[in-house]
Amino acid sequence: MRPAPDGRTPVDPDRARQLLTGELSALDDRLRAAEDNRAEASADTLGQEGALGQHPGDYGTEVNTTMEADLSVTTLSEQRRRVQDAIDRLDEGGYGRCAVCGREIDDERLEARPEVPTCREHADTPVVT
Ligand SMILES: [Zn+2]
Repeated sequence: MRPAPDGRTPVDPDRARQLLTGELSALDDRLRAAEDNRAEASADTLGQEGALGQHPGDYGTEVNTTMEADLSVTTLSEQRRRVQDAIDRLDEGGYGRCAVCGREIDDERLEARPEVPTCREHADTPVVT
């Protein structure tokens, strides 16, 4: 991998990679569990519809459960993509730099959230990857 243009390495890449791959496999586990949950939630919705002469008012709860399960699958997938992107940046040598302004992201921030693509100042700036 290429060294940073100024010759400094913002964070230890080996350590960052270790953190990120650990995070990636943890997310894979959670994603699998969330997908199971979602499958169960939809199965419940389909299985119970009409079968117990259920009051139509109860139906909304089931739909919400399905939506929540969907939401967590989506959230986890997005988080997984961010982690994967960070690993790609490690491979390309651009890791540890803000995707918006190009400045180094401070170590403390990377240590807490090794997948972040931006510095503190641009934490809320959407990054298109
Ligand atoms: Zn920035």
